[in-house]
Amino acid sequence: MSGPKTVAVIAHRKKTLGGGLDELRRRVTAEDVGTLLWYEVPKSRKAPKKAREAAAKGADLVLVWGGDGMVQRTLDALAGRDVTIGIIPAGTANLLATNLGIPQDLPEAVRIAFHGRKRPLDLGKVNGEHFAVMAGAGFDGNLIKEADRGLKDQLGRLAYVWTGLKHVDGSAPQVRVKIDGTTWFKGAASCVLLGNVGTITGGIHAFDDAEPDDGWLEVGVSTAQGAAEWARTLGRMVVGRSDRSPFVRMTRAREIDVKLAAPMEYELDGGARTTAKRLRATVVPHAVTVRVPA
Ligand SMILES: [Mg+2]
Repeated sequence: MSGPKTVAVIAHRKKTLGGGLDELRRRVTAEDVGTLLWYEVPKSRKAPKKAREAAAKGADLVLVWGGDGMVQRTLDALAGRDVTIGIIPAGTANLLATNLGIPQDLPEAVRIAFHGRKRPLDLGKVNGEHFAVMAGAGFDGNLIKEADRGLKDQLGRLAYVWTGLKHVDGSAPQVRVKIDGTTWFKGAASCVLLGNVGTITGGIHAFDDAEPDDGWLEVGVSTAQGAAEWARTLGRMVVGRSDRSPFVRMTRAREIDVKLAAPMEYELDGGARTTAKRLRATVVPHAVTVRVPA
């Protein structure tokens, strides 16, 4: 198999893994690389411009160094382009890499990026922007604080899923969710989540049967309010199937239209976005190609 001709590295320079960017560069240059394009950015918001530049310069393989935010920004810029992506999980939260079986191990991640299996992945798209892990809006920012200590330990990084959530005077707002054109949920909801992958670190499943290449997005609405109900819902995610929680409704769709009673902050792959009253989401089947373990 011939190596890629043009390889681009887009690195969040504040993130680290193994021997850092020096080791990354040594390992990349040990591969069959014709042209090496090397970009370092101080924040993930700067990544899309570099990703587009790399694509314009004919990159065959783009390596992303960083966490879910960095990966999300890069995938958003490269969706629909004929570029293969390698993920080097150097971030704090690396949920996409974890779901794809890419380890937080620099030599192994580089090996996979160059020699792994090419896997086409769906992306979700919310209000014009792609996500790879999850998107959503939630309305009970205190839920993690309120959850008891033992549960919090078990939840681990699931907490980050909810970081964008804002508490709104204790009461759950009215939400209308249409899936594929039909009203599926109408009522008070504390959280609406869209999922492309299912497994959260530590074996916690938010979406039990999610596959990132089946052409569908998972949709979940939680009606849980207050500490006790949230604890039951999240506990269910830890010990069993989250769709068996009495406070969760779940299904699967290609188009999701969420209407909120008031503008809410929403998030994509753990990063907060502006407030919106409407979330229009679609699945983009096989939007990107990522190298994963064989
Ligand atoms: Mg899917």
